[in-house]
Amino acid sequence: MSNTIKISLDTSQYRLPTSEDITSAKQFILRREDYARVLEAKVDECLANAAQEIVTICYKYNVDPQKFSISSQYNEKMMAEIAEVMDNAEEEILDLIYDYSTATVPDGSPSGRKDALAAWIALLGRGNRNLQDTLDGYLYKAMKDWEAAIAALRYANVAMAAAVTKVKSHLHSIYTMPEIMATFDHADDFNATYIRNKGVQKGAVGISNNGSTNVTNMAKLTLQMAWMKELSMEHEEDGAAGYYVLRGSSYPCETCDSMVGFHKMEDIDGYPPYHGHCCCYVIPIYGIDGKTTNNERTQREDADAIAQARAKFDAYSEEWEKEYFNPSNGGFNVYHKKHQFSNVKPNGAAMSGGQAEKHVGRLLADFGAKQVEFLQENGNGTAKPDIRFDNRTWDVKYISTANENTIRKYIENARKADCAIFYWDRNNKLEELKSAVTRTIGKFSKKGELSTIPSIFYINKDGLLQCIFDNK
Ligand SMILES: [Zn+2]
Repeated sequence: MSNTIKISLDTSQYRLPTSEDITSAKQFILRREDYARVLEAKVDECLANAAQEIVTICYKYNVDPQKFSISSQYNEKMMAEIAEVMDNAEEEILDLIYDYSTATVPDGSPSGRKDALAAWIALLGRGNRNLQDTLDGYLYKAMKDWEAAIAALRYANVAMAAAVTKVKSHLHSIYTMPEIMATFDHADDFNATYIRNKGVQKGAVGISNNGSTNVTNMAKLTLQMAWMKELSMEHEEDGAAGYYVLRGSSYPCETCDSMVGFHKMEDIDGYPPYHGHCCCYVIPIYGIDGKTTNNERTQREDADAIAQARAKFDAYSEEWEKEYFNPSNGGFNVYHKKHQFSNVKPNGAAMSGGQAEKHVGRLLADFGAKQVEFLQENGNGTAKPDIRFDNRTWDVKYISTANENTIRKYIENARKADCAIFYWDRNNKLEELKSAVTRTIGKFSKKGELSTIPSIFYINKDGLLQCIFDNK
């Protein structure tokens, strides 16, 4: 994203955004794209699993490559098994889309807010169809893509295990599979729809010829649109007078260029994305005589929250050591008396593992207002998660002196927790950490075990918890 930003605004009416406003608008898009990538990987995992099951079912029924099609006319029992796989896949993918698309609704929002966004999402779809009907159509096409692949692979005498591998690895490029291309020379000998049509879907202008690709693209675009819808509602609630659109990427796009600049809040449907992959970002703009009521309300809510945190802290039993309470934000640390702090200090490191853990707990309380519990451990300190806050368990890994391979081992070791926090106080480890995360995601996606990887966070130089991979 470009660093030189020109904002032209009528300053007699509107306040110029601060540099923090601009940074947080960009960070919102980066976080959105992170979530979109994880959603895509998870939807891909569902599709790969469904493809695997369908190949296995068709091989079990020993289908005839040329007569075969996925339909009840060909084999009613087989079709019933396949329909169940497809129904489950559809349900799982819809759940993923809703979960990730509504993940931006802030925790503690009035109930109903998530429901309202979910209802809005349900109406998104291609043409005048809703989300579920659109997904249904794309999944049906994916199933027909697999039908062509299975016919071609059976025709080429490919064994089941190899057929599963081939279909999964060609999920997004099914018609480049050599076995399918070979059938196109005598396409009329087959019953599979997309062998007969030589891979071409009639009347499908503007969408991919591949069912799986349409599914993942739709999942990502739905998430992007939902996040921007939620953002627009937040801006409106905060009393913004309008919003300012800026390009988040530099490729030429007339549509996006035409939207750059100030829009009044009445034009709330003008928020990006303006197309798939659109990274345009939005800064809320407030009037000169902007409201302060929100601020006052926030202060009152803060005082209540701190009082509640204090009561919770005071109520911990004898088994806990009440180590620290921050009276200005309600963050705290409590240590279970059976929590083990390691005294081992890595060569060249500033602190022992236990000291680093305590330090991270303190940063979380002071800068994140987190209510951190250091959990009970028994004997072997690596078998249980280190801490708990925000209703998730966390492992703390001190990596000032660790290399990328060690960091990868730490990520795998942290699978017992929901999340892992990486902390360093010398040697910037961010690039090594990111690379270790990318490689670990790759390794576990291939095995179909992506969901076992913890979400990955680190503490930045301002003491703030930053997410680089959210796998919740
Ligand atoms: Zn754009």
